[in-house]
Amino acid sequence: MRDYRMFYIDGAWVEPEGTETQDLVNPANEKISGRIALGSAGDVDKAVAAARRAFPAWSRSTREERLALLRRIKAEFEARQGDLAAAITEEMGAPASLAGGFHTFLGLGHLDAAITALESYTFEEKLGDTLVVQEPIGVCGLITPWNWPINQVTVKVFPALATGCTVVLKPPQLAAYSAQILAEILDAAGVPAGVFNMVQGKGSVIGTALSTHPDVDMISFTGSESVGVQIQKDAADTVKRVCLELGGKSPYIVLDDASTMERVASAVSSMMMNSGQTCSAGSRLLVPAARFEEAKALAAKTAEAVAVGDPSGNVAMGPVVSKEQFDTVQSYIAQGIAEGAELIAGGPGRPEGLEVGFYVKPTVFVSDNSTAIAREEIFGPVLVMIPYEGIEDAIAIANDTDFGLAAYVDGEDIAACRAIARRIRAGAIYLNGGFDFAAPFGGYKRSGNGREWGAHGFAEYLETKSILGHG
Ligand code: NDP
Repeated sequence: MRDYRMFYIDGAWVEPEGTETQDLVNPANEKISGRIALGSAGDVDKAVAAARRAFPAWSRSTREERLALLRRIKAEFEARQGDLAAAITEEMGAPASLAGGFHTFLGLGHLDAAITALESYTFEEKLGDTLVVQEPIGVCGLITPWNWPINQVTVKVFPALATGCTVVLKPPQLAAYSAQILAEILDAAGVPAGVFNMVQGKGSVIGTALSTHPDVDMISFTGSESVGVQIQKDAADTVKRVCLELGGKSPYIVLDDASTMERVASAVSSMMMNSGQTCSAGSRLLVPAARFEEAKALAAKTAEAVAVGDPSGNVAMGPVVSKEQFDTVQSYIAQGIAEGAELIAGGPGRPEGLEVGFYVKPTVFVSDNSTAIAREEIFGPVLVMIPYEGIEDAIAIANDTDFGLAAYVDGEDIAACRAIARRIRAGAIYLNGGFDFAAPFGGYKRSGNGREWGAHGFAEYLETKSILGHG
């Protein structure tokens, strides 16, 4: 049983003001795995005050001082990777191989990317007689979701620290354990008092206290659209900068090249990774109508072969994070069937033999782009296959969505892939599995307004000052 009832404020582990706690449930077996303290607005006040006190010195620290801290954090992070992975499996059900693989790899990757970006980042430029200076924005409230918990925290905390900001992190209740370990890592690395603070608790309490706080200069939020909208409203009275990374319904286009139907299998496997709880998941698989039957058979076969089970074992897919998430995904599966979409793999209920735990069958539907399952973010292992009649049709379907976080284009004709990429209204277009920690990540349309990852991610934490007549 994990017992995490202290907050990290002003360089120390401190008792919360209140006594309220929350038990957390392991999604693999539905048993209580530990508990956390639920903070109050008073705890947030203390953390913000500490961050405010630390800001003058940290904002004037040298690049070398900040690099030295990030490198110490890297050493501690590497030493605790196993602990982080175990926490991620326990809190949100990612298979051990994924938690110890891609989950922690992403965290370390963002740390490396922040170090690399800081080594050469241009904080000042001359425009004639004017000096334009990029300065840290101030105290940042960082609010993160549970789905890729360490990725979401590291992609905010490290750029904030690298640019000279001080922070108060509000991790999700459902992924409180890995955040706690990250705070231990920062403490062990010697983060100066008040530069990094963490308060656990309910979004409606801690998140709201941060969004409305007069002494918080910006909020960086990753999560659902509805909460993103609420945060913008809450932050409006204090005219904070609000950076939002929200949901998606991303198209995965497979082109009509001879061998690329194999890519259908990769598209299905990547959709099922992390039980489909990935904001940038390619959840609409667009396949040429002329090859649709071939693609359908391959997609069904691939989904049925996904090994689902206890995430501590050798499986490809664990449970979804919670009962609530399980119920949401089940209701979408029922809705897809009710809307007349063709179910070709998976379907309602738990996989056979898994009666306890929030396990969902890897599910594939065939539909057009008009159904709720093709338009709304399900955030579970449910893929919708949609046939297209030519490139123009594929682009039109790809763009026919409220979201614009990511898109995938797989084909042998790279010129064709590039041309399609330019016409899709989304923040990141992945051609043939491309991946890059330095590439800016964020959404068009209702997928948000910010950009994270690498040097581009620094901009969210910087203010621009013009010093005119500088000479
Ligand atoms: P939520 O929006 O419910 O929660 C995200 C965070 O916001 C949690 O820490 C939550 O706290 C907190 N929160 C809840 N209410 C408020 C509030 N009123 N004010 C401030 N903070 C609040 O999302 P989920 O955690 O359920 O994550 C799933 C969603 O996130 C999906 O829609 C997904 O698409 C999106 N997402 C987007 C990503 C992107 O990069 N674009 C990446 C990952 C997810 P708590 O839950 O602890 O109460």
